[in-house]
Amino acid sequence: MKAAVLKNWLDLELTDIPMPVPNENEALIKVKLAGVCGSDITVYRGKHMTATVPTVLCHEILGTIETLPEGYAGPFKLGQRVLMNPIISCGECSACKRGLTHVCENLKLLGMHVDGGFAEYTKVGVDKLVALDEDIPDDVAILGEPFAVGQHIMVRSQIQPGDTVFISGGATVGLYIAIFAKAYGAGRVIISEINEVRRQFVESMGIETINPAETDAMELMKEVTGGGGFDVVYDTSGAEIPVLQMPDLCRCGGKMLSLGLSGDAYKFIIGKVSFKEITLIGNRLYSQEDFEQGVRFLEDNWKTMGLDRMVTDRLGLSDINTAIDMMLTGKNVCKIIIDVNK
Ligand SMILES: [Zn+2]
Ligand SMILES: [Zn+2]
Repeated sequence: MKAAVLKNWLDLELTDIPMPVPNENEALIKVKLAGVCGSDITVYRGKHMTATVPTVLCHEILGTIETLPEGYAGPFKLGQRVLMNPIISCGECSACKRGLTHVCENLKLLGMHVDGGFAEYTKVGVDKLVALDEDIPDDVAILGEPFAVGQHIMVRSQIQPGDTVFISGGATVGLYIAIFAKAYGAGRVIISEINEVRRQFVESMGIETINPAETDAMELMKEVTGGGGFDVVYDTSGAEIPVLQMPDLCRCGGKMLSLGLSGDAYKFIIGKVSFKEITLIGNRLYSQEDFEQGVRFLEDNWKTMGLDRMVTDRLGLSDINTAIDMMLTGKNVCKIIIDVNK
């Protein structure tokens, strides 16, 4: 079958590989659409802290069930359209024993440690399949995994009604956070995004933005909060300046969440967090429940919130390197998806 294999860092090649062979608890999935994620780029660049090569990239996968395990008696049917939770946890480490399977000490992720979705077929545990409403179009349903990310971020950050929210980075994750935060009752929600086209897109989705090259975030914070600081500050970029600025923008007793996954080292002054009693919250992936809730949010709101506009580019599998290049150079407006059969 055709697959885009990351052979080494910065070396992604469309090639033929053997079909995946599902084990006794897995389903074989015929991939239809595959979403390109910022974390694929972190992996591609060799900056992800745990990813391995060679791997077929991609963990945002929509497809149909080709085979189910022998004797399977669960709710899923052959040919059914599904999404899948790409997390593989060991079930035995101390994190798994606490129910924190999404931060399993031996965690593997489809598309980072085992072969993922930029391929004609993939395989996944039947317990990781997620059903979809019939009337949600493919191009919206493919956003299910990113909305699971957004749902988990909401669980972690516990937005309160009226909260002021500052988000650095307006690519996909930043936009999901803003959409969820507003749905959860936040007050003013502002995204800082340097890319003009992306900023216009975010504004068109009804979210306020600033250009950090023109508006100083500290001045904005004073204007919005009277100098006290934002209730919740998120950084989705992982870049040094916005990460280091987070405690300055956050109020005393506020919350800050850093969502970057890179292993880059910065000189962070932890005393700024201590003095303001800021709650610093780590965040990663999602539980199966978050995944299902994220998908339900998408199903319930895509029409009214115009979430069908979030897929801004659709390319074929043979254009995978173009897609990667668009992500590397910031030419993606919002979500790029790969039509595997094109
Ligand atoms: Zn992702
Ligand atoms: Zn584990």
